[in-house]
Amino acid sequence: MEVYILGYGGWISQATLGYTSIYVKTDINLLIDVGECTYLKITQCGLPWPDAVFISHRHGDHILGVATLLLHARKLNRRLKIVASAEVIEAVKTLATVTAIDKSLSFVDFLESAGDVQIGMTRLKFVTTSHPVFTQAVRVEHMGKCFAYSSDTAPSREVEELARGCDLLAHEVSGNPGQEEETHKLGHSTTLDAVEIARRAGVKMLMPIHFYVEQPVISSPIPLVLPTPCGRVVI
Ligand SMILES: [Zn+2]
Repeated sequence: MEVYILGYGGWISQATLGYTSIYVKTDINLLIDVGECTYLKITQCGLPWPDAVFISHRHGDHILGVATLLLHARKLNRRLKIVASAEVIEAVKTLATVTAIDKSLSFVDFLESAGDVQIGMTRLKFVTTSHPVFTQAVRVEHMGKCFAYSSDTAPSREVEELARGCDLLAHEVSGNPGQEEETHKLGHSTTLDAVEIARRAGVKMLMPIHFYVEQPVISSPIPLVLPTPCGRVVI
């Protein structure tokens, strides 16, 4: 399994970070979250057209790039699976309508992220996170390897369970240690929270993601993988 980092910022973060988006290669090419400029990032990183996209929730930094992706599906005559909750599927359809690209929807196969989703030999599992809008974390399993992505969430036992024993957990870190109260109120986690969840879940590596600060303050007993633009992690 190969995990590529397309972006790792929160919605209003340093522009150089991009928006949190991850591209996972198994027997399929899976894009996870699609903020603005995600299609541009895919091409800049030299990655092929994704077979499927999982969209965790409808906050703009996770979904606003979907219209461009849909338009390219039509232009390239490629089909695209969109895996998401019913709420997010409705949001995608609305975005296609308001941006006047409804015709592109005929190139999309929607798969609701209720229960497990199997695409080829890749299995996706989901839990609902602790965030102001309906949000799902995802676990990607393939050939005995496992990658988990928290999406946006305050510290969550469900996310911890989802990530249990994974090779790599990408967990959001919207705040630094000492900012727990205000960070949790907004439905986010600090670096300290992410390390604690990774430790309890027994993951092999932790990737802090979804920064609002250029340099998150983090110390971890678990090996850290720091995201870089187009950075690749092989697990
Ligand atoms: Zn969010």
